Amino acid sequence: MKRREIYLEDSYRREHETRAIAVKDSKFVVLDSTIFYPEGGGQPHDRGEIISLADGARYPVVYVGKFDGNVSHEIDSDFCNLKEGDRVRCVIDWERRYKLMRSHTAAHLVSAIINQRTGALITGNQLDIEKVRIDFSLEKFERDVMKGFLDYANEIIKQDLPVRHYYLSREEAEREGVSLLAKGLPPDLEELRVVEIAGIDRQADGGTHVRHLSEIGEIELLKLENKGKKNRRVYFKLV
Ligand SMILES: [Zn+2]
Repeated sequence: MKRREIYLEDSYRREHETRAIAVKDSKFVVLDSTIFYPEGGGQPHDRGEIISLADGARYPVVYVGKFDGNVSHEIDSDFCNLKEGDRVRCVIDWERRYKLMRSHTAAHLVSAIINQRTGALITGNQLDIEKVRIDFSLEKFERDVMKGFLDYANEIIKQDLPVRHYYLSREEAEREGVSLLAKGLPPDLEELRVVEIAGIDRQADGGTHVRHLSEIGEIELLKLENKGKKNRRVYFKLV
């Protein structure tokens, strides 16, 4: 049975009550529904706590991954008393998550600008708490040009465009020109989650995003690297 992944529906949920449905090796917990984002698609996993409602024990969550279709929460504890069926309260590290949400939406915006202005293919991205990395494929690229793109991104952020998500069939998504570059998108997935920055970008994506561009704040260029003949890499941070 598919467990609810609340982070996909409402990325602003910080707390949630549910129950443990499996505990493996006193360490790996599967919940009936979860607000914890599992590592993937260039976005790092959430951290936070799972608190037992039976005895009040607090278990720090140090890693979250998706295995065999289930979100597994790794807890850092020598002694885990959690059992199958136990009611729990979950709290995510909101400061970390919100930074990653802002960074993720910023990465989509910057990727869209690079792609629209140069035609370059975006080949990868990695979000970090301190910086965001975007890889793209282009023969020649100057720092000033990238600086100009980020200035433009900051202009768009000030327009405070809405960001929303919805589901389309793969067929509809292809017909409507939604970018299907997302890493780890299963080829047999019939329904795609699309994240749209109004009028700017639409991508198939399973990450968490802010609802309004103004939440990003301001983007600042860190550095530009050449990785081989055609591979360019840009790092930026949010200020
Ligand atoms: Zn994304």
